[in-house]
Amino acid sequence: MKKLSVIVPCYNEEECIPLFYKTVSETVKQLPVELEFVFVDDGSRDKTLPLLRELARGDERVRYLSFSRNFGKEAALFAGLQAAKGDLVSVMDADLQDPPELLLTMYKGIEEEGYDCVGCRRTDRKNEPKVRSAFARLFYRLINRMADTEIVDGARDFRMMTRRMTDAILSLPERDRFSKELFSWVGFKTKWLEYENRERAAGKTKWNFKKLTRYAVGGIEGATTSLLKVNLWMAFLFLLACFGFVVADIVLAALGEYVSALFILLPVLFFIAFALLLGLFVVSEYVKKIFVQVRGRPVYLVRESAEDLRAGEGRQ
Ligand code: UDP
Ligand code: MG
Repeated sequence: MKKLSVIVPCYNEEECIPLFYKTVSETVKQLPVELEFVFVDDGSRDKTLPLLRELARGDERVRYLSFSRNFGKEAALFAGLQAAKGDLVSVMDADLQDPPELLLTMYKGIEEEGYDCVGCRRTDRKNEPKVRSAFARLFYRLINRMADTEIVDGARDFRMMTRRMTDAILSLPERDRFSKELFSWVGFKTKWLEYENRERAAGKTKWNFKKLTRYAVGGIEGATTSLLKVNLWMAFLFLLACFGFVVADIVLAALGEYVSALFILLPVLFFIAFALLLGLFVVSEYVKKIFVQVRGRPVYLVRESAEDLRAGEGRQ
């Protein structure tokens, strides 16, 4: 029987954990899998940890890790992925905003339809402050324009993956992790389920505007180096301005008009700015190479091989 690991990042989720545990245990009973909970307590200050201890004492399938302080959801996710032992690995929020019954459809998608991953995207952003939705939309538009991999708008971290895809994600060694991009960067066949946004079962959201902004900016920085091109664009703007002034000066001189010192000096200054920015652009091209090298992502990832086929693990 296959093992299913359910990874749950928890930050001050005392109100949600008992209900989460109960609901997910009940739901997964309908699947022919052995269940494993991997709770990651992200430095909670409420009764999250004592609750997890109690669950682990009473149920062998419950495992937990507790961080020394709050390291953030990305860190908790990574810790959970590293700890999970399942052949199938699922990531879920503790607040039941991720509908547990979708686990059944996800399982089917992987086991019967041959997908490597079944993810979830919400089709609406009801129950969310309007400003937050607007910023989220802007974020997705920006990052998708700049990054090479597609970051699906509204995609949750909630998903189920095969062991192979999980290992692929773990093989990306970067410290500064932005999972939404990593999930997409590793490739593999992903099926998207759509569902309507749900309210939290209890408790409050752990994200404030500052935290979300930091998350979004960090994501853009991590996912793409195209911001570095700004040097090149600025350089060309200055070059254009320089030409404009040179042409204007020549025309004025040809017409016998008076050309002021400022009009002669400005194109020179613009040219210097252009030259400096061009130099900066060259440096940033090397920064880009260093960034890619230091990030150390694998050059390729294998989805299937003849060995897998012979071992009976070939996929449709
Ligand atoms: N979370 C975490 N560390 C944090 C913030 C959040 O582990 O610093 C967990 C949280 O306990 C929850 C999940 O990440 O299980 C999603 O958080 P939340 O529901 O607050 O986010 P939202 O659904 O509002 O985007
Ligand atoms: Mg939530």
